[in-house]
Amino acid sequence: NNIVAIVGRPNVGKSTFFNRLIQRREAIVDSVSGVTRDRNYGKSEWNGKEFSVIDTGGYIKGSDDIFEGEIRRQVELAIDEADAIVFVVDVEEGITPMDEEVAKLLRKVKKPILLVVNKVDNAMREKDAVEFYNLGLGEYFSISGMSGSGTGELLDKLVEVLPEMPEVTEEVEPLPRFCVVGRPNAGKSSFINALIGEDRFVVTDIAGTTRDAIDTKYNRFGFEFNLVDTAGIRRKAKVKEDLEFYSVMRSVRAIEHSDVCLLVIDATRGFEGQDQSIFWLAEKNRKGIVILVNKWDLVEKDTMSTRDYERKIREEIAPFTDVPILFISALTKQRLLKALETAVEVFENRKQRISTSKFNELMLPIIEATPPPALKGKYIKIKYCMQLPTPTPQFVFFANLPQYVKDPYKRFIENKLREQYNFSGVPIDIYFRQK
Ligand code: GDP
Repeated sequence: NNIVAIVGRPNVGKSTFFNRLIQRREAIVDSVSGVTRDRNYGKSEWNGKEFSVIDTGGYIKGSDDIFEGEIRRQVELAIDEADAIVFVVDVEEGITPMDEEVAKLLRKVKKPILLVVNKVDNAMREKDAVEFYNLGLGEYFSISGMSGSGTGELLDKLVEVLPEMPEVTEEVEPLPRFCVVGRPNAGKSSFINALIGEDRFVVTDIAGTTRDAIDTKYNRFGFEFNLVDTAGIRRKAKVKEDLEFYSVMRSVRAIEHSDVCLLVIDATRGFEGQDQSIFWLAEKNRKGIVILVNKWDLVEKDTMSTRDYERKIREEIAPFTDVPILFISALTKQRLLKALETAVEVFENRKQRISTSKFNELMLPIIEATPPPALKGKYIKIKYCMQLPTPTPQFVFFANLPQYVKDPYKRFIENKLREQYNFSGVPIDIYFRQK
């Protein structure tokens, strides 16, 4: 997917615009799967072209007294990581010094930049908007985030300027694609180095679907896999700022491009907000997930047992808790083989197909014993179910009154399914539909 970053100073209406972009699609997705919506990252689609959107502003807390330097770094990161940048300004305020700062950075960039003048709610504002030509970014789009006017033209242009994605040629037996993600200093590079070594058994370099994500094929401990490397991890100097935004921005492309995400966390710091953001990013993209608690060599084992540690993490990632958690050390090379084995297992779990007859044989008696609770005196009958032929596990249950099936029952079904089949580390979708 192409990645579009929305930048601009606080309170210009970035999040309203962001919500508008992801709404059309997400509203549909959310209502059936019950996925929690992320404030800052979502998928959008226009004229049949899908892209990911990141609202950089959503990651800034207390955005009123935001430092200029902060915005600057955000814009720089967006320039590095995104395929197109939407720069939002506010017609009520006119051009501010901060807008000029941002424009200065953007003028040097080769990537598509779209200047959006927001809050253009009437004809007078339309005249005021003209001053934004002075930013030196060329033609602008005036929109009203409130009413949505002007968004259509903007989106037409946006999907037109997004780079073409090369066709992904499916291999006959595709190798698992893994990515290693985590916040700065969690030990990602150390883990990768410990795993593949300096000698790097590189078989081939396959250019990925985008300029930045590169698959490199490895053979380690008898496992063949592709490691998705991003320029972000490979090339960039360490980011000092320990902000949620950086981790997410740096992980999006790698996560979208992989099958299984190895989320490295720093044992000495625990599972924190940033780790959670990356976890939900992977979950939202329906990728396999393995959590690697790194630097376990540094943890005093008397005070913190693996069991306590594991329980804490599972609390943080609820309700999707069926995820392998391993305690490793990139430094002493502890359990690296296990980490790889688990990643391959999660990949297989995610690929598995359950035959419709077996699935019905198993699930229908469970449903019969515990049917969905009747609603408004109406009984809900489920007669038939099946796994859909989708890349990620999705199951559909055909019912007379699917709209009456509530989330707790969905979770009950999901738990039963996970008890019977190994979907460890794999997000699954369950739908109820009219036969
Ligand atoms: P990255 O930013 O996630 O790629 O993190 P690095 O791999 O650069 O590691 C950050 C720091 O943690 C470095 O100083 C590493 O030497 C150290 N480190 C990484 N893994 C371990 C580990 O398993 N144990 C210990 N004690 N230190 C580690």
